[in-house]
Amino acid sequence: TPTILWFRRDLRLGDHPALLAAAEQGPVLPLFVLDDALLGPSGRPRRDYLFRSLRALDADLRAHGPGLVVRKGRPEQVVPELAAEIGAGAVHVSADFGPYGAARDARVEEALDVPLTRTGSPYAVGPGRLRTGGGKPYQVFTPFYRAWVEHGWRAPAASDPAAVDWVGASGVALPEAASGDEPVGEAAARERWEAFRGTPYDDIRDRPDLDETSRLSPALRWGEIHPRTVLAGLDLRRPHDETFRRELAWREFYAHVLHAWPESARSYFRPELRALPYVTGTERERRLAAWTAGRTGYPIVDAGMRQLLAEGWMHNRVRMIAASFLVKDLHVEWTYGARHFMRHLVDGDLASNQHNWQWVAGCGTDAAPYFRIFNPTTQGRKFDPDGVYARRWIPELDSPDYPEPIVDHATQRAEALTAYQLIRGNR
Ligand code: FAD
Repeated sequence: TPTILWFRRDLRLGDHPALLAAAEQGPVLPLFVLDDALLGPSGRPRRDYLFRSLRALDADLRAHGPGLVVRKGRPEQVVPELAAEIGAGAVHVSADFGPYGAARDARVEEALDVPLTRTGSPYAVGPGRLRTGGGKPYQVFTPFYRAWVEHGWRAPAASDPAAVDWVGASGVALPEAASGDEPVGEAAARERWEAFRGTPYDDIRDRPDLDETSRLSPALRWGEIHPRTVLAGLDLRRPHDETFRRELAWREFYAHVLHAWPESARSYFRPELRALPYVTGTERERRLAAWTAGRTGYPIVDAGMRQLLAEGWMHNRVRMIAASFLVKDLHVEWTYGARHFMRHLVDGDLASNQHNWQWVAGCGTDAAPYFRIFNPTTQGRKFDPDGVYARRWIPELDSPDYPEPIVDHATQRAEALTAYQLIRGNR
């Protein structure tokens, strides 16, 4: 009996536990479903990345069989239909722990006459697995990290696409994608990782001008590489590799937090900060327009926002500065910024995005204290000392076409702190 392997955030064939589980049961039909609920809110770089990655997966599959079957529609309709059509004995997936993915999978499971089998996940340690001594989910990163390391993870799964009996079916063509410069797909992700390994990460991680971080985030987001593959390649005798492992653990921590508190994707983890006096109406729209277009008059912020629109990616240090600027200098609620990031980031991931935003805004689990406010000018001087990053993205930087600062940082900082003191006093 054939089975279906339904790809979602696991667009690879190596180190793929669900592929191993499917292949054990018989011939495998590889499926991807174009779901408007996910594609609709996605900006162009994000959709293009996905379509290019699917093309790469299809090419890899064609080396061994008829290739990826692409269908379009609501998964709870499309997946059971295909299962009935080919007489599938089961549908195999990697578990999805996000709020939309988990609810979608429950609907698909309900609609299927055969089992939906979840094997593996996009994480080294599945969200929900780790608990504090008191049996509660972790809210603080450092104890989570300790428990995560102690728990450990399995060695990479030995899935081999050449050993699978692949089957096909009719489907729709993959949508066209603008061709990007960056190679995508599983082979590119592995090459990227191999090229990055051994980098003196501690020395370069905060420097957007050097641009030497791993840039593995889109590959991890779409599952072109599994974090276990990356973890297995670290040399923990090197302090750089230990720092890098902590960064991978932040990704796991936020997935764990979102799983424990799904409502934290939208609502404040610390609700008292909702009472801050945020701007609204046309003033909010005006400020958001300047921020999203990269025309605030603060070069490090503007360079980042323009990089986001052009590449669908932004350096981590700049994400922090740009997010802090929106919330603490422009007094716009973090949810507006988070939505813009999610729409455009090729690595846009609900858990990492919403919780990093809440960290910056001071209202998340284990967040930066509200009074820690990034100064966009000194941050720029420190982390982009020669203005190389700013000039890369703002050609008119030294000309009169570049806007004056939209607000005065010192004034806005004082305003933010006063407002914060007030709401703290009211509690
Ligand atoms: P590297 O420095 O090479 O780090 C390696 C990997 O560790 C990353 O690929 C990522 O998977 C993980 N990682 C590193 N830092 C973080 C972090 N702070 N939180 C979670 N994981 C981390 N990352 C996303 O993957 N998706 C998002 O939607 C996202 N939104 C963000 C929003 C804001 C406001 C901020 C401040 C950060 C956000 N990040 C997000 C985290 C981080 O900026 C990116 O993961 C990182 O810049 C990706 O570049 P890299 O792969 O070169 O990172």
